[in-house]
Parts: sequence; C-alpha cells; structure tokens
Amino acid sequence: GVDGHLDERAVDAGVQPGDTDVEASLRPRSLEEFVGQPRVREQLQLVLEGARRRGDPPDHILLSGPPGLGKTSLAMIIAQEMGAAIRLTSGPALERAGDLAAMLSNLVPGDVLFIDEIHRTARPAEEMLYLAMEDFRVDVVVGKGPGATSIPLDVAPFTLVGATTRAGSLTGPLRDRFGFTGQMEFYDVPELDRVLRRAAGILGIDLRADGAAEIAGRCRGTPRVANRLLRRVRDYAEVRADGVVTREVARDALAVYDVDELGLDRLDRAVLGALVRSFHGGPVGVSTLAVAVGEEPGTVEEVCEPYLVRAGMIARTPRGRVATPLAWTHLGLTPPADAPA
Ligand code: ADP
Repeated sequence: GVDGHLDERAVDAGVQPGDTDVEASLRPRSLEEFVGQPRVREQLQLVLEGARRRGDPPDHILLSGPPGLGKTSLAMIIAQEMGAAIRLTSGPALERAGDLAAMLSNLVPGDVLFIDEIHRTARPAEEMLYLAMEDFRVDVVVGKGPGATSIPLDVAPFTLVGATTRAGSLTGPLRDRFGFTGQMEFYDVPELDRVLRRAAGILGIDLRADGAAEIAGRCRGTPRVANRLLRRVRDYAEVRADGVVTREVARDALAVYDVDELGLDRLDRAVLGALVRSFHGGPVGVSTLAVAVGEEPGTVEEVCEPYLVRAGMIARTPRGRVATPLAWTHLGLTPPADAPA
C-alpha cells in the first residue's frame, strides 16, 4: 500500500496484520470519539441515522483522502454504529474475481464490507462489484470456453465502504455506485492536539500542553503520524529524560528522527530538494520526481505531494509540479525572481 501497511491486510474479517496492537488500541471507537472531520462526521451521522430509521443498511460509502487520516477507523465506526460486523479487504488483495465472490457470498444481511485502496481493484473483481452493489447479486462463471456458464448468486444486502487515496483514479461506473463520498481533510493543529492528548491518555504518557503543541504542529496534519511521533518522543523522554514530554523533549526527540519544524520528513525534503535543485523549481512530472528520489511514484503522489501542496510548498500546474518560494526558503535557498507565488 501507499504507506506500507495497507497491502498486507488479509482477506478476512477482524484481523489486520499491518496494525500493531498499539495502533489498534488508539483507534477511535465511535463517531463521538472520532476527532475532527466535522463535515464528514455530520454527513455520515445523517446517512447512518436515516438508514437506521428505515431499518435498511446504509448506502455504499466512499471515503477518500491521504493515508492515515482515519478512513479505516471510520469504516469500523460505521459498522459499530449500525451494530453490524465488518469484513476487511483491499483492492490489491482482490486479484481474482473468485476471491471477491467468496467474500460476497459469505456476507450476512447488514454486514459492512470494507475495501481499502479500492482504486487498485483488478477489473474483473471491479465489474463483479458493480452488480453486487446495485442488485446484491453476483454472476459466477463456471467452466471455460464455449461450455462456460454463469450462475447467478444472491448476496445479502450489505454496505460497501471503499477507501481511496485517489478518488480521481476510480472508474466512473464504480464511483457512481456510491451513495455518499466523504472527503477527508488534513487535520488542523487543535484537532491534532486532541488526537495526541487522547492517545497519551490511552498509552499513559505524561504529555504536557507545550509538548503536545510541539508535536501537533509537526505531524503533517495526519493522526497516524501524530500517534507515531508521540511514541517516538515517548521513547526519547524515557531514555534520555525523565519520561515527561515537554516542548523541549519533543523538540530534541523530533530532531533525532529527522522531522523538521514544519513536520516534513526525510522523503518530503528529498522531493522538495530534487524539485528545487535538480529541476530548478519545475515544472516537472511526479514520476520524474519520484525517480529522482528513488521512490515509488504512488508514494510521492499520494503521501508526499498532498501535504506539500497543503503546506504551500508545491503547486500543481498543467505542465507539472512547481516549487513555491516557501519551498526554496524552507531549504535555506533564495527563490528565483520568477518563482510562482
Ligand atoms: P487511513 O485508513 O485513512 O489510512 P486509519 O483509520 O488507519 O487511517 O488511521 C490511522 C490511525 O490514526 C488510527 O489507528 C488512529 O489511531 C489514528 N486516527 C485516525 N483518525 C483519527 C481520529 N479522527 N481521531 C483519533 N485518532 C485517529
């Protein structure tokens, strides 16, 4: 997956091999506990309450946005709020349509089927999904060649929750079959502060207000990063200090882990550095940039770029990505006179 843990997810219910116990313990369990995303939360609340009153499973739901913003957590919450079970899989795991047919035929009424990275579902499985989403039916093809027959199977009424880091690469027919799309946004600093204080409470970390503020400003607007940095800062606090996370401890710890004042990590800075130094600020295509830093284009496009754009350091233009003056100054360089604002 785009940040390493997504691909490993098994085609099975409940277990998530990529998820450590700690990460699992930090997942918000209800819409109440889910910090931030006020718009998506309000929209979802209506979708779920409407369905509940009618006694139907909710419409199929698509959650889109960069990794680590809480799409999987929300999918689990949707199931929880509906009193339903959730089955987890991912687009890349559905290589053969048969894998999907097996999952679909095992659903019981009201189940939530979560497909992470749904934009990476192979075509035959995707086509099977159309019929399942629309008519709660699948056609299973048995045999090969002229003798092949297709056997229709009923699927229990279910809710598909799809997650994607690129809503733009979903095919039209798939996108059209979702009744609601929640567009996840980066979290602001006060929200991340709440995420951090909640996590510190669960993990029993003595996180002071100034320490939380320091980490909140440096976690790329992303709760998963916030929780990860908190755990690294805790290590530092316990090994090199007295265990208390103050601003100073957080600052020193984050310096050790190469997280800069704006929260950019090593890869973010490599991408910016290549854009500025090797391509004179651009415009340059994402795949060229990815090659320059030795990373997968998908990672650069789905993990680095959205945050660099949001931080105002990269602009997207029809001819490619360009560095803004902020990118130059952040790297300690003087922007050229013709750099885009
Ligand atoms: P995604 O599926 O978008 O990659 P996840 O749902 O796996 O993101 O979230 C990653 C981690 O971030 C979760 O384990 C959880 O600890 C934390 N997290 C995400 N969203 C929130 C939130 N709104 N409030 C608190 N913690 C969150």
